[in-house]
Amino acid sequence: MNLAQRDQNVIWHPYTQMKTAALPVPIVRGEGAVLYAEDGTSYIDAVASWWVNLHGHAHPYIAKKVAEQLQTLEHVIFAGFTHAPAVELAERLLQILPKGQSRLFYTDNGSTAVEVALKMAIQYWNNLGTPKKKIIAFRDSYHGDTFGAMAVSARSAFTAPFWPYLFEVEFVDVPVAGKEEQTIRQFETLATGDDVAAFIYEPLVLGTAGMVMYTPEVLDKLLYICEEHNILTIADEVMTGFGRTGHTFASAYMRHQPDVVCMSKGLTGGTMALGATSCNEKIYEAFLHDDKSKTLFHGHSYTANPVACAAGLASLDLLVQDETQQSIRRISQRHAAFAGRIQHLPYIQEVRQRGTILAVEFNDGTSSYFSDLRDTLYSFALDHGVILRPLGNIIYIIPPYCITNEQLEQVYQTILGMQEVVSGTNPYPRPDKTVLHD
Ligand SMILES: *Cc1c(COP(=O)(O)O)cnc(C)c1O
Repeated sequence: MNLAQRDQNVIWHPYTQMKTAALPVPIVRGEGAVLYAEDGTSYIDAVASWWVNLHGHAHPYIAKKVAEQLQTLEHVIFAGFTHAPAVELAERLLQILPKGQSRLFYTDNGSTAVEVALKMAIQYWNNLGTPKKKIIAFRDSYHGDTFGAMAVSARSAFTAPFWPYLFEVEFVDVPVAGKEEQTIRQFETLATGDDVAAFIYEPLVLGTAGMVMYTPEVLDKLLYICEEHNILTIADEVMTGFGRTGHTFASAYMRHQPDVVCMSKGLTGGTMALGATSCNEKIYEAFLHDDKSKTLFHGHSYTANPVACAAGLASLDLLVQDETQQSIRRISQRHAAFAGRIQHLPYIQEVRQRGTILAVEFNDGTSSYFSDLRDTLYSFALDHGVILRPLGNIIYIIPPYCITNEQLEQVYQTILGMQEVVSGTNPYPRPDKTVLHD
């Protein structure tokens, strides 16, 4: 039995209908932006292995730092004890995080970083003696797969079985082009109620919704309304963090800065699972009390794992290098040029770009994640040596920053080649635009 068959006997894969899924591709090695399969096929990792990889696979510098840490201290309980990698990583993150962030709480992944952010915000108002119940979120948002994170995410097919168990959230429309005023009005109506604890948002780019984008100007307006009405703001930078949008954090595009920031994905350069939630001093201080019930009672066994923190430090070393920053600009410019080249093609509905993230929405008459087109596009890309994971009729690139111009061109050509697939599925372009809800 080969590896893929053995896998099928024992593994249950994420986001995978195991009954109908194709056999998984066994990967044996990675280098730079390329992954190598057991049968010798190579693939350009144009989705950075689910948006986590920043500097390429098996990066020698990160590997060295992780190996050193492994031989020094692999893990220690993080209540009552501390260690240099956790402290140093917190110090360095707080220097680059949005202005005002002053404390860092470690977790294991993006979903738990969001759980902690929600708990900080809700308990903040409880600790002050003025509990507030409402949370505002964008209707099509994605904040993770644990229950709190699901609650503040879109009510989609992905979470349908759990709807009765998800707490109530006030959803406002994503303020995409043309909808800005509508969202602002919805937001203002909710904000005047004086019972809103927090607003959680994916800044500028909603990843899972299909790389849906909106402007810094409208987000700044929403953040201003929050400030006026004393609503805590939570920037979920799990996907947008660490350079994806051009700035180290997407929050840098705005004048108003969040109270809480969630990080994960690129935090370790895509090497290890690690999450973090930072907050400003106002929130932190609301938990300082002689009364022990005001404590933030949250923690994971692997909180601030030293090996993961060492990977985070190594990744930050690489991120701040000129070469990496130049690559972020290079990818952004190439994306913009490619977007300009293709946006008028008849089978393309819309092209969106922010920094190193590029999304192409095809005209296909359907926009469901479950559409056949999605699977066809996915296979088409694999057959052309590129890993792209379409969200319905939307294909996106979020590459490791080390991707070469030649590799990027191969990804672009693959997307251009999808024309035949798209037009083969449905030759009649849809006249109006429908919103993707999953
Ligand atoms: C991926 C993602 C999460 C969840 O992170 P996990 O590490 O997969 O739990 C949360 N928020 C956003 C914006 C994400 O893109």
